Amino acid sequence: MTAPKKKILLLPGDGIGPEVTGATRKIIDWFQRAGRTAFEITEDLVGGISYDQHGAPVTSAALARAKEADAVLLACVGGPKWDTLPFKDRPERGLLAIRKEMGLFANLRPAVVFDVLAGASTLKAEVVKGLDIMIVRELLGGVYFGEPRGIETLPNGERRGINTQVYTSSEIQRVARVAFELARKRRKKVGSVEKANVMESGVLWREEVTKLHASDYGDVELVHMYADNCAMQLVRNPKQFDVIVTDNLFGDLLSDLASMLTGSLGMLPSASLGPKEASGRQAALYEPIHGSAPDIAGKGIANPLAMILSYAMMLRYSFNLSADADLLEKAVHNVLSAGMRTADIVEKGQSAVSTWVMGDAVVSELARLAV
Ligand code: NAD
Repeated sequence: MTAPKKKILLLPGDGIGPEVTGATRKIIDWFQRAGRTAFEITEDLVGGISYDQHGAPVTSAALARAKEADAVLLACVGGPKWDTLPFKDRPERGLLAIRKEMGLFANLRPAVVFDVLAGASTLKAEVVKGLDIMIVRELLGGVYFGEPRGIETLPNGERRGINTQVYTSSEIQRVARVAFELARKRRKKVGSVEKANVMESGVLWREEVTKLHASDYGDVELVHMYADNCAMQLVRNPKQFDVIVTDNLFGDLLSDLASMLTGSLGMLPSASLGPKEASGRQAALYEPIHGSAPDIAGKGIANPLAMILSYAMMLRYSFNLSADADLLEKAVHNVLSAGMRTADIVEKGQSAVSTWVMGDAVVSELARLAV
């Protein structure tokens, strides 16, 4: 009996989402046609388009499909059309609901500088050339979710806003484990980042990561760093890092900072992982870090590479197809080296190609490399 096909759910979302998904679909279909993958692929709605069609930014049927899938590939959601809706109906709520429902607690954000794009960074090319770091951000805990929270009025009439930074030992250990496992497949170095100098939650973070390191990951180098120093070091000498693991708030800031070292929003993929089941199956959602880019939506000029590289991450992390992920990343690299650029990364003397042409170019390069 043949094993059941692995299921992928595609969520094109809003704005440039359908365009970059269309280009990515060409790559997915190439792998299927070449017999390198045999996925069962379905599509569903999320975000503003789901609100327009179903009155909710994600339906319970779409949520169930996301949970049932072996991996979800999402483009982006949001746009001015839905900005005045009540909070619960906003496109972003759909995405948050999926993340929560799937239990995605670890957000992986690689910041990789393709040599040919080193000039696109605001930092000097020699500082970022060859950069390859991975930021692991805790996604379900910390100050964004901690209780008590709210805004209250004090007896003297002053108002007070409250949020609570809170972490348990198991929440820290499970995300640190993801970081150590990733480091083992990379350059075996983890930087754990908190503010243990001023926050008790940071002291606990440091103690728990140290404990896990001593018990299970002695082969990986561990360094501890305060978040403010990490921000400075990322700009001063980013290549000192391999994997960085940090909490929800610091991760939010540091991963945006790290992504800008590469200088190109349209190039950056991400993955969010949930708990591993006994069967080895792990809930996972892959998505570019960019938003729905309403300013260029519908024009056919968006860069599809962030989503295409998100698919490469899916092949590597959800399906253990490292050779195929390498092949796809190499195809992207070669296409860029040949001078092909979408408008967001075009340099002097080059002419920009459309989303479709970029997708086709990656497919042609895949076919050329595969023979
Ligand atoms: P954005 O990432 O959509 O756009 C920022 C700038 O980068 C724009 O000038 C845009 O044209 C450009 N850009 C982004 N992706 C690009 C690509 N693939 N190719 C070429 N250029 C690209 O961020 P924003 O403008 O702050 O937000 C727009 C909407 O997206 C908002 O509704 C926001 O809430 C939503 N958003 C969604 C996500 C998500 O789906 N995960 C993330 C961020 C923002």
